[in-house]
Amino acid sequence: PLVLGIETSCDETGVALARGEELLVDAVASSMDEHARYGGIIPEVASRAHLEAMVPTIRRALAEADVDLGEVDAIAVTAGPGLVGPLTIGAAAAKALAVGLGVPLYGVNHVIGHAAVDELVHGPFPDRVMALVVSGGHSSLLMVDDIVTGVTELGSTLDDAAGEAFDKVGRLLGLPYPGGPHIDRLAREGDREAIRFPRGLTAPKDQAKHAYDFSFSGLKTAVARWVEARQDAGQEIPVADVAASFAYSVADVLTAKTIAACRRHGVETLVIGGGFSANSQLRDLAAERCAEAGIELRIPPIRYCTDNGAMIAAVGAAAVRRGLAPSDLDLAVDSSMPLTLVTV
Ligand code: ATP
Ligand code: MG
Ligand code: FE
Repeated sequence: PLVLGIETSCDETGVALARGEELLVDAVASSMDEHARYGGIIPEVASRAHLEAMVPTIRRALAEADVDLGEVDAIAVTAGPGLVGPLTIGAAAAKALAVGLGVPLYGVNHVIGHAAVDELVHGPFPDRVMALVVSGGHSSLLMVDDIVTGVTELGSTLDDAAGEAFDKVGRLLGLPYPGGPHIDRLAREGDREAIRFPRGLTAPKDQAKHAYDFSFSGLKTAVARWVEARQDAGQEIPVADVAASFAYSVADVLTAKTIAACRRHGVETLVIGGGFSANSQLRDLAAERCAEAGIELRIPPIRYCTDNGAMIAAVGAAAVRRGLAPSDLDLAVDSSMPLTLVTV
């Protein structure tokens, strides 16, 4: 079956086509340039951009795949989590297509999509995988027995997500928004051992309750204090060393906890997804530590880490394969859709 996936949870308008487990096309339009000058996503601006980009992006995807709209068998759309306005634009387009074409509609979970997209890239998951989804809004550790019907959340962030922490540290270092990719670039030139920043929730006292949870807001504050102290003393800030030491702290905690969870549950395959999995410090450390631990590591190429339509088509295609009941045409978007809900 041919599934059309639509993603509009944030600033990217993503449209993709998947036939079974094969990705035919993935088209993305972004309104980030418009948000960058405000230092954050303006929901109203993003909603208007989705409205303008929707039809052209659908047309572009169909043309690139050389597919006629009438050939589409099912529509998948992000139902949440995300920004309500942008989500509503995507859902409206998906409902209109489903009604017009007389095909089923599947409202799917964006965060699960960040992991599921790897099936379209590297092939179907084995029976059990561990998934670490790290993005602007989430740092979640998921045990996946089935990407549609068997997702268990082992841990999540108690405060800032990894990407959010990078963006906030980026701001305090005076970098453009979003700071994540800039810190990544600077960190490659710095010494990761230069400053010993804290590793949140790794102390023995946190192990019982928060073995697989994450916290990065204390780390962010520690970086701010360190930078302020230097500034107050009239000293120059070694920006590359700060970036490298900060990025190492985040990657260290993420990989240590994730690999511990794989060991504890006897899981041999780790999938990392979400916008923050574009981070090279995380990718490098995960590759090194998974190799040591004998864990197979799967990370999609960067264009499938950040928001895109393929991740939504991937969940839709998996739902269709499992014969899941479609969503109601009056499905409501949910800005804080829980991860236990893969489809609605
Ligand atoms: P969610 O998926 O939780 O709804 P989101 O969709 O806003 O959140 P994504 O688009 O998946 O998030 O990811 C964006 C985040 O990834 C931003 O915080 C951005 O700074 C971060 N990011 C992207 N590339 C890198 C990189 N190379 N290094 C660090 N952070 C990065
Ligand atoms: Mg984005
Ligand atoms: Fe995302």
